[in-house]
Amino acid sequence: MAETIIPKATAKRLPVYYRYLNFLANSGTTKISSTELSDAVKVDSATIRRDFSYFGALGKRGYGYDVVDLLNFFKKILNQDRLTNVGLVGVGNLGHALLNYNFRQANNIRISAGFDINPELAGTIQSGVPIYPMDEMIKQIKDQQIEIVILTVPIDAAQHITDDLVKAGIKGIMNFTPIRISVPSYVRVQNVDLATELQTLIYFLEHYGPTLKEP
Ligand code: ATP
Repeated sequence: MAETIIPKATAKRLPVYYRYLNFLANSGTTKISSTELSDAVKVDSATIRRDFSYFGALGKRGYGYDVVDLLNFFKKILNQDRLTNVGLVGVGNLGHALLNYNFRQANNIRISAGFDINPELAGTIQSGVPIYPMDEMIKQIKDQQIEIVILTVPIDAAQHITDDLVKAGIKGIMNFTPIRISVPSYVRVQNVDLATELQTLIYFLEHYGPTLKEP
């Protein structure tokens, strides 16, 4: 099917509609009239109707719009319907913090599985996320089609876990360990070394002051 070409101004309003519909859906509202929608998003109802008409008849006269239908529709258009499942290996202090971090607020990311060698953690649910023992890691990653993993394990465990992650078919690793892990060329690694970042900041502050540029 050919893609609908919509005016730029309409395209800019789509996220506005989307955000409001999301809010309505979360608060349990099932229907909304075009006047109510208009008042809430500050776009006149004729414009709303015209915007919506580019995508076919989405509302019925005298009935208003079905919030969930409309939301699903905009989700697809805005590519918000794809949720990225991420795995986390090493549920220590940093791992816990990341499990508690609400990635989904801004993006459609969620940590769907955690893995840890500690038998007191494996088999539990931490911050709503199931934690699996290491001998289930490869299977779970494959079954859950996890393509990205956050690595928060001690340095000495990082490389052999990485090798298993590669075997499991992972495509990207967010590496919080301070070592550079080796991966094949088809796997992408993003290094996040908090201690080094802080040291760099301290170094620049000490040597160049707060505002001067590095040479
Ligand atoms: P952090 O470095 O995140 O602050 P921490 O100080 O609590 O963590 P670490 O010793 O760094 O603890 O370990 C982080 C987590 O990694 C722990 O939960 C630990 O059980 C887990 N871990 C350690 N070795 C392995 C391993 N070989 N495989 C999987 N998980 C491991």
